[in-house]
Amino acid sequence: MTEQNMPGTFDVIIIGGGPGGYVAAIRAAQLGLKTACIDMFTGKDGKPAPGGTCLNVGCIPSKALLDSSKYFHHVGHEFADHGISVKSLTVDIPKMIARKDGIVKKLTGGVTQLFKGNRVEFFHGRGRLLAGKQVEFTPADGTPAISLQAGSVILASGSVPIAIPNVTFDGEFIVDNAGALDFTSVPRRLGVIGAGVIGLELGSVWSRLGAEVVLLEALEGFLPTADITISQHAAREFAKQGLKFHFGTLVKGANVVKKEVLVTLEDKQGESQLTFDKLLVAVGRKPYTDGLLSPDSGVRLTDRGQIEVDGQSRTSVPGVWAVGDCVRGPMLAHKASEEGIAVVEQIAGKPAHICFDTVPWVIYTEPEIAWVGKTEQELKKAGVNYRSGSFPFAANGRALASGNSAGLVKMLADAETDEILGVHIVGASASELIAECVVAMEFHGSSEDLARIVHAHPTLSEAVHEAALHVDGRAIHRGN
Ligand code: FAD
Ligand code: NAD
Repeated sequence: MTEQNMPGTFDVIIIGGGPGGYVAAIRAAQLGLKTACIDMFTGKDGKPAPGGTCLNVGCIPSKALLDSSKYFHHVGHEFADHGISVKSLTVDIPKMIARKDGIVKKLTGGVTQLFKGNRVEFFHGRGRLLAGKQVEFTPADGTPAISLQAGSVILASGSVPIAIPNVTFDGEFIVDNAGALDFTSVPRRLGVIGAGVIGLELGSVWSRLGAEVVLLEALEGFLPTADITISQHAAREFAKQGLKFHFGTLVKGANVVKKEVLVTLEDKQGESQLTFDKLLVAVGRKPYTDGLLSPDSGVRLTDRGQIEVDGQSRTSVPGVWAVGDCVRGPMLAHKASEEGIAVVEQIAGKPAHICFDTVPWVIYTEPEIAWVGKTEQELKKAGVNYRSGSFPFAANGRALASGNSAGLVKMLADAETDEILGVHIVGASASELIAECVVAMEFHGSSEDLARIVHAHPTLSEAVHEAALHVDGRAIHRGN
């Protein structure tokens, strides 16, 4: 028996089965590596649920509720413009949540099937890296721990919500993202601490369903990493939808009193209190490494608690790699997955490369927000000589036809070479429109390249085309 064929010995052991870990496991198996993936997530039905935060309590369930709530809102508020009237409109929240849970179950079950189909050995429970690329596996069913041996180990343990002082999660009144994806009725008043990505997405869900949503944000504005034109435009749109923002607000504490949450906050006006039925805390996430590393594993953490890695995702221990939310870089599912693939391709002796400069961001509000590359404020700060073009959806035929005329596309290109440096979109289907811009930037395309490509009419993508033309002052459907 060769060493590789011995039970409990693998070419690659991956700890964590989120989009970083499970995608890496499938790719490793495709490359002929004997692969194990350990994940401890347990679904609502008590069964293993590989897929991590993304499939269980993140990307997918939030998008399911965003879509359900969008339909409800459209029927109630926008159908009348199209000449469609609805006599009475009701919403069944438990059914909406059950639909979301069904999608989660389908997808996590799909990962289990993909593991079987690709011969990835799945271990449901906790993994801990020991010295010498040994991994201790503690099964979720309470049976004794066993030891596994790996040629290479990939750590993909993800992240967890950050808590703030004097605001304690209780899972019922004061909740994190998982709790806010599982309300059984619409809270009359929902407080959200943090007007970031989760606050905006989940705040939108419950606002569309009828909650009065108040976002308490420490900064004087929101989305500081988005282009300023886009965040300002989005702020106006969200305010029109009824989301209330308290910027420059420091939350000092929250208490549950008689089934209400009393939040004490401080802003320029001094200290005050607000009362909510539910409070969502969404102030960011931190890498999760609890119990992951034995003291002699040799893997170093940064002072921010991330697993320390180099540009190729190598940790401080040869043969041990780390990817996804537990390392540096944006906490995004697609970034985690591409890192996982790049790592196993390197383990298999293939060249691998990720361009972190062209990782797209999408926020699935209405209008959607999406961007890739540098913002205008970043270019100004770096002293880059650039040209800017933009195009409003209000001048795009398809956007008007569908009643989605809010927003714009903004393109930034190098003033000398015309290479596209960034594209920023707020508007319907921004999540899809950004893909063309990512491809253009990956190929070091210029605004002229996009301007000369034929875009179908009538489509929203014509707004990208027009923004590219506008960089050179020759947009057709707007005054230049
Ligand atoms: P995770 O998905 O967190 O997976 C890590 C897994 O490892 C978990 O299952 C965990 O239980 C397991 N684990 C940890 N330690 C151990 C251990 N010692 N042993 C065994 N198992 C362990 N990103 C997007 O790109 N698009 C979106 O639309 C989006 N929406 C989001 C919405 C919400 C509400 C949230 C919270 C996040 C969202 N994200 C989104 C972020 C995205 O979910 C994460 O970036 C992504 O899941 C990170 O993948 P990962 O594999 O690194 O970690
Ligand atoms: P975030 O970093 O997007 O936003 C957190 C917000 O909370 C910031 O605006 C910050 O200024 C504010 N804040 C921090 N401390 C505060 C305090 N004490 N009081 C008031 N405000 C405070 O974090 P998030 O919304 O929790 O999301 C975490 C991460 O999950 C995101 O950064 C992203 O990487 C990922 N995510 C991605 C998507 C997507 O891709 N569509 C969706 C959801 C989550």
